[in-house]
Amino acid sequence: MYDENNVFAKILREEIPCKKFYETQYALVFEDLFPQRKIHMLVIPKGKYIDLDDFNANATKDEVVGFFRAISEVSTRLKIQATEGGYRVISNIGSNGGQEVPHLHFHILGGERVGRMLSAKTRTSVKEKL
Ligand code: AMP
Repeated sequence: MYDENNVFAKILREEIPCKKFYETQYALVFEDLFPQRKIHMLVIPKGKYIDLDDFNANATKDEVVGFFRAISEVSTRLKIQATEGGYRVISNIGSNGGQEVPHLHFHILGGERVGRMLSAKTRTSVKEKL
């Protein structure tokens, strides 16, 4: 169940401040409080969705389009599209994914080399898990 007291819900209700970068009726974009690269933005939907799976299952098509287009609006405004060097989007889902705030968000990281996608780790074959 959606936690009304999560920090991004409070930002949406303007109970706590954020460094807003861009906003539409479907999405809010603001700077991450603890930036991990020169550019580190967070894109969140205005609706109450816990994670990507909740969003895809329950959001309207307008909400889905409005949310994902906001990501590219950010890359255009910041001039970090592939032709300008590129960037990375990450969405953490649940505890294995490392999600800390239970309101869907995409991280936009760029402005410099973001680096390897994940640090190397001994892998267990997917087949072994099935
Ligand atoms: P995640 O681990 O994917 O849930 O990411 C949560 C992100 O939210 C982290 O990168 C935090 O630095 C960021 N964060 C937490 N509180 C705030 C806040 N009040 N304003 C902006 N970013 C925040």
